[in-house]
Amino acid sequence: MASPFSGVLQLTDLDDFIGPSQDCIKPMKVDKRSGSGVAKIHIEDDGSYFQVTQDGGTRKLEKAKISLDDCLACSGCVTSAETVLITQQSHEELRKVIDANKTAAPGQQKLVVVSVSPQSRASLAAQFGLNPTDTARKLTAFFKKIGVHYVFDTSFSRNFSLLESQREFVQRFRGQAGSQQALPVLASACPGWICYAEKTHGSFLIPYLSTVRSPQQVMGSLVKDFFAQQQHLTPDSIYHVTVMPCYDKKLEASRPDFFSQDYQTRDVDCVVTTGEVFKLLEEEGVSLSELEPAPLDSLCSSVSAQEPSSHRGGGSGGYLEHVFQHAARELFGIHVDEITYRPLRNKDFQEVTLEKEGQIVLHFAAAYGFRNIQNLVQKLKRGRCPYHYVEVMACPAGCLNGGGQLKAPNTPGKELLQRVETLYSMVRTEAPEDAPGIQELYRCWLQGEGSERAGRLLHTSYHAVEKASSSLGIRW
Ligand code: SF4
Repeated sequence: MASPFSGVLQLTDLDDFIGPSQDCIKPMKVDKRSGSGVAKIHIEDDGSYFQVTQDGGTRKLEKAKISLDDCLACSGCVTSAETVLITQQSHEELRKVIDANKTAAPGQQKLVVVSVSPQSRASLAAQFGLNPTDTARKLTAFFKKIGVHYVFDTSFSRNFSLLESQREFVQRFRGQAGSQQALPVLASACPGWICYAEKTHGSFLIPYLSTVRSPQQVMGSLVKDFFAQQQHLTPDSIYHVTVMPCYDKKLEASRPDFFSQDYQTRDVDCVVTTGEVFKLLEEEGVSLSELEPAPLDSLCSSVSAQEPSSHRGGGSGGYLEHVFQHAARELFGIHVDEITYRPLRNKDFQEVTLEKEGQIVLHFAAAYGFRNIQNLVQKLKRGRCPYHYVEVMACPAGCLNGGGQLKAPNTPGKELLQRVETLYSMVRTEAPEDAPGIQELYRCWLQGEGSERAGRLLHTSYHAVEKASSSLGIRW
């Protein structure tokens, strides 16, 4: 397919050349020849770049290579399945570990664990015309067939993320008088948003960010700490893979905060996108629909999972809803059954309020997509942000629309997204505090709610990243 960027570009500021946004906006060096204010860059159909030299010849330019640390989370390449340049984590890495296991001496093998996100499951269900439960069982069968030992569901770890978010909000709301930056609490489950916050408004935004780990990273703690202990294994002898709806999750898994120095291992070793799972199925010549379903695995031996479960409140995890209902009950003694959203500028910026005696006592919002995020940040900077809590997600329409989800060439994006949303909402929901095994794990694994151990394993911290000096001129 011809690159949409085929042709000749005329550049007048040539210290750095910025590639097309679908690739990477990290700058590439282009020689600035004396006496010339203009250089010509020719782009071939295959996406190669050539600098047109003064004598009329061409010189091939090196394509920008990006490591996870360099990434600007520009949402160009990071959320685009076709052109992503991230190489450190891929389905090929998973394959390498599985292949190495086949020839490894006993005792040298890795225990391979895959944790699947409910958003990826819904996307695969739409692709194969299956219901979510069959998809979960057939995916389990597929992964086990290729050599994976356990397949878990990150809805389980999301129970902890939601409960910790509820607790954190109530604490910060009660303590707001003592801290100017206690509120609003800005949700932290989306690494695209976190990366943006750290790299563009670091020290200003960080105090507002929820410290709760995302479901992926809570799953990392569960697998490398709780499950490793159950299996009498060290964390480094488990290879933990997650299946996620976006590339940004790879950045999240690579954060130094989730790396164990003691064992030289990550909580999540490898993140593969929904699209990469589809590729893996194709490479193995397997159609998910034709596989015999397998029973679902459960992290807790005392809990047997017959079918997947989910949470209320939409495809991005339901943070707003869970925190809102809990806060209304805890702080004002009001039981809220149904949440009514009020759309603001667009359907990706909505708010919810709780009134008591004619006064707004809780004011929450959901802001999805960078356009709305920028708007929110402006409000905050001008001191005109009325919200107590904001569920912030980098993707328009949220996680079901993540850049790593499957596309269908013959189905318009909107129609496909609706189908994925319907499938996602078909899954039985439960309140996180009632989910089987959660209270037991708080007791036995975390030594109680609010313990030092719960703080260490379920929360994280953020770091302002100094702006790289470049002539990128990116306006966030
Ligand atoms: S909103 Fe998009 S970038 Fe953020 S976690 Fe969800 S899928 Fe990933």
